[in-house]
Amino acid sequence: MRKPKVAILGFGLVGRVAALMLQDQYQLSIFEAAQTPNNNGAGALAAAMLAPMAESVICEADLAQMGVEAMTLWPKLLATLSMPVMYQQVGTLIVAHQQDMGDLRSFEQRLKPLAGHQAQHVSSHDIAKLEPELAGRFHQGIYLPSEGQLDNLAFYKASFEQLKNTECQFYFGKSVMLERNLQGVAQVNGEAFDWVIDCRGIGAKHQLDGLRGVRGEVARIYAPEVTLNRPVRLMHPRYPIYIAPKPNNEFVIGATEIESQDDGPITVRSTLELLSAAYTVHSGFAEARVMAISAGLRPAFSDNRPHIETDGNVISINGLYRHGYLLAPAVVQQALSKELL
Ligand SMILES: Cc1cc2nc3c(=O)[nH]c(=O)nc-3n(C[C@H](O)[C@H](O)[C@H](O)COP(=O)(O)OP(=O)(O)OC[C@H]3O[C@@H](n4cnc5c(N)ncnc54)[C@H](O)[C@@H]3O)c2cc1C
Repeated sequence: MRKPKVAILGFGLVGRVAALMLQDQYQLSIFEAAQTPNNNGAGALAAAMLAPMAESVICEADLAQMGVEAMTLWPKLLATLSMPVMYQQVGTLIVAHQQDMGDLRSFEQRLKPLAGHQAQHVSSHDIAKLEPELAGRFHQGIYLPSEGQLDNLAFYKASFEQLKNTECQFYFGKSVMLERNLQGVAQVNGEAFDWVIDCRGIGAKHQLDGLRGVRGEVARIYAPEVTLNRPVRLMHPRYPIYIAPKPNNEFVIGATEIESQDDGPITVRSTLELLSAAYTVHSGFAEARVMAISAGLRPAFSDNRPHIETDGNVISINGLYRHGYLLAPAVVQQALSKELL
């Protein structure tokens, strides 16, 4: 019996998670606007932190709770891949310089209670135990022990390798639109499919009402003189800055959050802010090498919540905003479970 044909539009974060969930039962065709598989969309430049409690300060409690559940799904999804992908759950440390202690207190007050997650107030002694190279630099902080992160670049590589070895058809350099034939059945590139899963992120802006981009700028650096065990967030007057350690002495330093549709190169101001903030956390960043400095658009609706829309045989999954890694396994599972899983 032939497997039902499914088109996935966009091979970014959501498209990959959907493809991995559907690969066994469906004949997949994946259309991606970029020419190459692993360096496209917001998901490729993200820090990939899984921080439900820290994010609860700016999102609704049910979304943060969904993030807690999604954190249990990531290890299962990664276990289906033949290449290893770093997944870590050793918490987030949040620190502030003396002049920003008010922001730290306000942040602490706005943390929402989440089942299974407890914030801890930490002293300079505790900070030194958690992050020996930050000893003596900060008097107080907050530790969120059950938060995590993953290596998104490794996930991109591993998911492509995995799907390449299945019957899945890839079409790179194909910027596609949703079309319908005379019977109203969705088609892509003139071909009809049983199902179309639209995961184009901000690329779906012209076909999804209310979708907007929220600009984020980020640096990826190589810093062999710095060892951090977990993501560290620094309170900052304009936006909290984070430093997420990745394998091979690489660090993602981010991120700005600007209401703008501009996906052009990072500004000098943002570059200076991000890199100088990192240097105030650890002077070892002075000799670090800047590997990439990028900007991208987080796809978001006005409520900053993910939206799943089903219209005939099209399922659209979008609006994951700054919580794509945090939420994708749970949101995609929810979107596909009604009809396809
Ligand atoms: C700087 C920054 C830092 C972030 N950090 C985190 C974090 O720490 N934790 C977290 O949970 N989230 C984070 N995010 C958010 C996360 O990256 C996004 O929520 C997530 O990438 C959205 O996934 P998506 O698949 O919808 O979009 P994308 O990842 O952008 O993927 C969309 C894909 O569709 C393709 N596409 C677009 N148009 C078309 C078309 N017409 N035809 C075919 N293909 C098309 C694109 O090329 C792209 O590959 C961050 C985002 C940014 C920008």
